[in-house]
Amino acid sequence: MIELQHVSHRFSNGTQALSNVSLNLDGGTFTALIGPSGAGKSTLMRVINGLVRPSQGRVTISGHDLTAASGAQVRLARREIGMVFQQFNLVRRLSALDNVLLGRLGYRAVWRSALKAYSQAEVQFALHLLDRVGLADQAWQRADTLSGGQQQRVGIARALAQEPKVILADEPISALDPKSAEQVMHILRSIHEDDGLMVIANLHFLGTVRDYAGRVIGLQQGQVMFDGTAAELTDAA
Ligand code: ADP
Ligand code: ADP
Repeated sequence: MIELQHVSHRFSNGTQALSNVSLNLDGGTFTALIGPSGAGKSTLMRVINGLVRPSQGRVTISGHDLTAASGAQVRLARREIGMVFQQFNLVRRLSALDNVLLGRLGYRAVWRSALKAYSQAEVQFALHLLDRVGLADQAWQRADTLSGGQQQRVGIARALAQEPKVILADEPISALDPKSAEQVMHILRSIHEDDGLMVIANLHFLGTVRDYAGRVIGLQQGQVMFDGTAAELTDAA
C-alpha cells in the first residue's frame, strides 16, 4: 500500500539523504528500518509521511500519489499514517487524554476544548485507547508527570486515535529503559498482529529487530543495502 519508486532526496545544503530508493511496503508486515546514523532512515520516514517532498521519484499511499498531490491531498493521505516519535512529542501541560484526542481532533480543537468540551463519546474513545496501552488509570494526569515509557504509550494511543492504516515509529524505544522498551514493543506487535496495521519502526538493536520484525530494510548512505527477513540478516552478518 506504500510504494516508493526511484526516490531520491537532496537537501538544499547539498546533502544527498536518499538515493534511488524503490520499496513496496504492504499491509500487515512489521518492518524494521535499520542502518547507521545518517543513513537516511528519518528522511525516508518523513518522505512516507509527506513531511518531506523528495527531490526525485514517486511515493504512493493506497494508490494516491503523494508527490503529485496538493497540500490538501497530502494531509488526507497523512491521516492514514500515525507517527510515533523518539521523544514522544506530547504536549507536556495537557493530560494523557488530551494528548490522545490530539490524534483525532487535531491540535487546535484540543487546545480549545481541553477538559471542558469533549463529548462523552470522545472521552470513551480516548479511554479505550489508553486502556489498550495500559494507562486508563493515568488518563487525567498531565503528560509531564508520566514516565518516559508511559509517555511513549500515550504517544502510541495518540497515533491510534487517528485510526491510521500504518504506524511509523521513528526510534520508538531509543529513549527508554529496557523494561519500558519491551512494553512498547509488545504494544507495537499487538497493533500489527491484532489490528492488522502496518508497523514500520526505526530500530537500533539487532536483538529487538530479530524478536519483532518480519521484514528488515537496511539503509546505508541513502540506499537500500538489505531487504529481507531478520534471519537472513543474521546469516549475512
Ligand atoms: P538517519 O535517520 O538514518 O540517522 P537522516 O535521514 O536523519 O538519517 O539523515 C540522512 C542525511 O541527511 C544525513 O547526512 C543528515 O545529516 C542529512 N540531513 C537530515 N536532515 C537534514 C536537513 N534538514 N537538512 C540537511 N541535511 C539533513
Ligand atoms: P490542522 O491543520 O488540521 O488543524 P493540526 O495542527 O491540528 O492540523 O494537527 C494535525 C495532526 O498533527 C493532529 O492530528 C495530531 O496528530 C498532530 N499534532 C498536532 N500538534 C501536535 C503536537 N503538539 N504534538 C503531537 N502531535 C501533534
